[in-house]
Amino acid sequence: MDREKKTFAPRSLDTEVQYLKGVGPRLAEVLGKVGIKTVRDVLFYLPRRYEDRSHLPAISDIRPGQWVTVKARIIDLENKATRGGMVVLKATISDRTGSLNLVWFNQPWVHRRLKNYDGEIIAYGYVKDVQFEIEMNSPEYELLEEEDDAEAFARITPVYPLAEGVSQALIRRAVCSALDRYLDALEDPLPDDFLRRHGLKPIQWSLNQIHRPDSDENKNDARKRLVFDEFFFFQVFLALKRLETSVETGISFPVQSMGKELTEQLRRMFPFELTGAQKRVIKEIWNDMERPHPMNRLVQGDVGSGKTAVAAAAMLAAVRSGYQAAMMAPTEILAEQHYNNLHRLFEPEGIRVALLVGKQTAKQKATQRQRAAEGSVDIAIGTHALVQENVEFKKLGLAIIDEQHRFGVMQRAALKDKGLGNPDVLVMTATPIPRTLTLTLYGDLDLSVIDEMPPGRKPIKTHWKQLHERAQVYKGVRKLIEEGRQAYFVCPLVSESEKMLTQAAEELYLRLSRTVFNDLRVGLLHGQMKTKEKEEVMERFRKHELDILVSTTIIEVGVDVPNASVMVIEDANRFGLSQLHQLRGRVGRGNYQSYCLLIADAKSDDARERLEAMVSTTDGFRIAEIDLKLRGPGEMYGTKQSGNLDFKIADLVQDGAMLEVARQAAFDLVREDPNLKRYPSIRAKALEDRPNSQIVTVS
Ligand code: ADP
Ligand code: MG
Repeated sequence: MDREKKTFAPRSLDTEVQYLKGVGPRLAEVLGKVGIKTVRDVLFYLPRRYEDRSHLPAISDIRPGQWVTVKARIIDLENKATRGGMVVLKATISDRTGSLNLVWFNQPWVHRRLKNYDGEIIAYGYVKDVQFEIEMNSPEYELLEEEDDAEAFARITPVYPLAEGVSQALIRRAVCSALDRYLDALEDPLPDDFLRRHGLKPIQWSLNQIHRPDSDENKNDARKRLVFDEFFFFQVFLALKRLETSVETGISFPVQSMGKELTEQLRRMFPFELTGAQKRVIKEIWNDMERPHPMNRLVQGDVGSGKTAVAAAAMLAAVRSGYQAAMMAPTEILAEQHYNNLHRLFEPEGIRVALLVGKQTAKQKATQRQRAAEGSVDIAIGTHALVQENVEFKKLGLAIIDEQHRFGVMQRAALKDKGLGNPDVLVMTATPIPRTLTLTLYGDLDLSVIDEMPPGRKPIKTHWKQLHERAQVYKGVRKLIEEGRQAYFVCPLVSESEKMLTQAAEELYLRLSRTVFNDLRVGLLHGQMKTKEKEEVMERFRKHELDILVSTTIIEVGVDVPNASVMVIEDANRFGLSQLHQLRGRVGRGNYQSYCLLIADAKSDDARERLEAMVSTTDGFRIAEIDLKLRGPGEMYGTKQSGNLDFKIADLVQDGAMLEVARQAAFDLVREDPNLKRYPSIRAKALEDRPNSQIVTVS
């Protein structure tokens, strides 16, 4: 490499990492393994955690189980080969208060370094208790040969995520040279007045302090700035996106002028009075539909809160305005259930409803497609079969997506594409989502929340029972069945594999139907059954021709049998919290007191927390918050690949308050200055690296 050239090269952050002092081509390749290619990548490769080596306790104050830094003199050195062929180096160090052993295995170079050294050593590691003595295995250490060695070592030290062959030392070295030589070249995308207004530190200062903190306080301020940036630019992007769709031309459904008839009609269709929350949300939707811009609204409501009625009201408005509506559900069972319900409700009103699902014969499907295309059907209900290429609508004005978290972004966009110009879009989710996630995943949608349950519902009573209490649980179930109710039994979640699940369900089915409940009518439902068989079983259960339904988790979503008032979940400790809550939502749908019995032996703290959460609350939002804490956002929604939750430093659990601040700042800014003329650098950064597919947006 040409040294002269390097000195004169412009200090671009896009400089390849090999040109950093102390790196070079070979190590640059190694750094490539953690995704570091350029100097910018190095600067933004952030520590995962820190070791605080700045506190130097006396040895007598050190306790086993602590991570500590010690500074002391070596008083004894012992290098022994064990019979197993291992070479163990033990350095005993001592200050005036006590002594501690530093131990290394098979590291001859450490022995070479320590052998003729009699000065002080500083070491950082985890302290263990070994037979009256304390020791550290393979500590990080430094010999105190120069005056400032101790100071350089005894600080808050960053610990970076690693990959094979990439060491902390290598990353720390690369980071330090990048900071020393290139930090000046980094421009702050946020102007001074903006930073001052929001109490944020400059980016250069923050990057330096995140990598080389002088104090905890500085480190926290640095983190605050970086977290803000991550949230803020994404929220600016969402705000711009939302602005864009809100001015697009859409359909204006003349809801206002039909208001009275629509309300009358709804009243005829539903045998019950809508709840206040349902009425409010319907109004929000109708207002959106009236506006000449596309609706992009998310309806959140816990299981059983009555989202179907809300969807029906939206479809009614679309159809009465002369348009078609489509509703996409994640499974065939659900699509059919919606179809049965809505068909029954709408047909008497002269509104034609069709079903389109994968398992229909080619001929059936062709017929339904033709009806949709020529406009002889008003409402199409289906699975993803609805968004297949050959499906066309004559005049689709409203697209509804139920149980959104099960669909990919692409499918949402695909359904909208079937529409006329810019159809209105309504997304419904039964999984209450913590607000932080809503703002992130659905930050470009308007939000309606159905926060009230239909009247007369008795909160489900949930009990956690130990394995040995099973007989007692069965007795309780039998009593309810004798009173005329029905029961679900959910089989253990033995594995992800359908085959194993089927086996578990069959075993449970056999056990219950042949022994415990051999005098009752027991049915079986699992994912490997043919669609027709599944349907038959569901239908028999719905008609009360079965007392007990043994099932895998396929009954998790949406199945609605109000007479079923008890659910037993076997080995409940194996299920995720949100999943347990979804399952539980299958009962408590009628006027009967309902029960959820979790049979479980809590094998871990996590499992215990999940079970206790289930017992203590039926509030889906509470459950979602707890689940988010226990599992983290990516796990929870399987949305890792969407990129939306892929924050480098921000943490949706811990940084909720910062997210609110960043969102407010972003939306205020875009409202005041829609084109961000005053802050072109903010606009540029917000739009940088955001392919459309990464956005949860319907446009
Ligand atoms: P979700 O889809 O939100 O889980 P559903 O729309 O399936 O809930 O409604 C759950 C049950 O509650 C259904 O049996 C439905 O008929 C009933 N229901 C909905 N709204 C009301 C209401 N306002 N009053 C009484 N029952 C209602
Ligand atoms: Mg539903």
